Amino acid sequence: MKINTEKLVKRLNQKWKDIPCPFCGDHKWSVDPKIVTPVEVLANKKMNLGGRFQPLVPITCGCCGYTAFINALVMDCVEEGE
Ligand SMILES: [Zn+2]
Repeated sequence: MKINTEKLVKRLNQKWKDIPCPFCGDHKWSVDPKIVTPVEVLANKKMNLGGRFQPLVPITCGCCGYTAFINALVMDCVEEGE
């Protein structure tokens, strides 16, 4: 899977508008166009590395480092054909 960064930034500007960082109040957001995912921990304390996953894109505050993770499918910013 690959992110269409231009589409993601356009959608973030539409949906987030000019929202500040919830921790420091700054507006210096940066998009890292990578897909990452949290790993489920099972009842036996092992990691579940198979199956479905959440395709998340990190959006980081350039002032304090707070990072939000945006679902690429919900934001419809996955490259066509992926
Ligand atoms: Zn911040």
